[in-house]
Amino acid sequence: MSIYADVKKGPAIEVFALTQAFKDDSNPNKVNLSVGAYRTNEGQPWVLPVVRNTEKNIASDENINHEYLPVTGLDTFTSAATQLVLGADSIALKEKRAFGVQTISGTGALRVAAEFLYQQLKRNDVYYSNPTWENHHKIFADTGFTKLHSYRYWDQNKRQLDLKGMLADLDQAVPGSVIILHACAHNPTGSDPTQEQWKEIADLMERKKLFPLFDSAYQGFASGDPDRDAWAVRYFVDRGFELFVCQSFAKNFGLYCERAGNLTIVQKNGATRDAIHSQLTLIIRGSYSNPPAYGARIVSKVLNTPELRQEWMGCIQSMSSRIREMRQALRSKLVELGTPGTWDHIVNQIGMFSYTGLNEQQVRILIDKYHIYLLKTGRINMCGLNTGNIDYVAKAIHAAVT
Ligand code: PMP
Repeated sequence: MSIYADVKKGPAIEVFALTQAFKDDSNPNKVNLSVGAYRTNEGQPWVLPVVRNTEKNIASDENINHEYLPVTGLDTFTSAATQLVLGADSIALKEKRAFGVQTISGTGALRVAAEFLYQQLKRNDVYYSNPTWENHHKIFADTGFTKLHSYRYWDQNKRQLDLKGMLADLDQAVPGSVIILHACAHNPTGSDPTQEQWKEIADLMERKKLFPLFDSAYQGFASGDPDRDAWAVRYFVDRGFELFVCQSFAKNFGLYCERAGNLTIVQKNGATRDAIHSQLTLIIRGSYSNPPAYGARIVSKVLNTPELRQEWMGCIQSMSSRIREMRQALRSKLVELGTPGTWDHIVNQIGMFSYTGLNEQQVRILIDKYHIYLLKTGRINMCGLNTGNIDYVAKAIHAAVT
């Protein structure tokens, strides 16, 4: 009898299972609206031209070698990443009470953050939105958190943020609870609080002494403007919160597989920096020793070189505007077809995803009958749509709904 005999097969990860099913499907009309990655209007992955050129320059640079990076990563990358999210004129940066450590993309930033909060700050209560990116629960549960809560976020009938529900649930949280907030382009709903609503959330979190952990996976990718997408984070920093920001460069640089990420720590004063930094170093050392350099070198070079940074701004604008065009097109086609229901939420939502409001049965029809792959919650990746397939998708949604 094998020592492995009692290992039970775990559940499939929905998003990857759907992508596999899509690959295995031989229907010529098939469409993948599940996985969270950008696609061009031709349905292809996109290497940002500024990234491609930077890769070439790095590859031919004789001064670059493959020595280990420091445990907390490439300094020029972490400082540029921290500045990107907090803003060059951030009071926290001026007062030297913010710094970053490099992580294995956004997921790794969340995991290192969770480990630190659990081990060092003895936190055991975490709140994430309902719905949220499903990995939030897993990351905190795997770290050891035993009090995992969700807060209301989405009003399915009105297809908009349920601020009242959110505030009521956060009001029940014990002081010190970790509250995961999506910095922008909430995944999966595509619905963010307005500035006024963020103020109410901050008021409550300040009063209840709750700890904000911003998950920032879409800065710049959402609106095309990195400053605009960082508004909420900067607002909380300006109000004096101590907080964490988990940054991913997967979407906004198209560096999905390179795992470039950063964990930004904002403190009340810089006196706590060295101790925090040393503990983060130990957490990373015991997890994966040190991070990969490739993606971080690219991001660092681009963000720290004004002309390249400008070029990158053009790239994020073109990605975000293509998504907005697809939102408009899908909404107009559904309205034209007279599909029952209102579809304004598709254009009101922001970022990569739209929470369509389609129910599980309608999703089943789309997958089985039309070979259109999407999550059972009705979340679609807007980037999977293009001028070649949007008519087909709109007609299929119409048929599934009627
Ligand atoms: N947070 C959210 C909300 C996300 O959508 C994602 C990517 N799907 C991530 C974090 C992390 O992604 P990555 O680890 O690829 O940077």
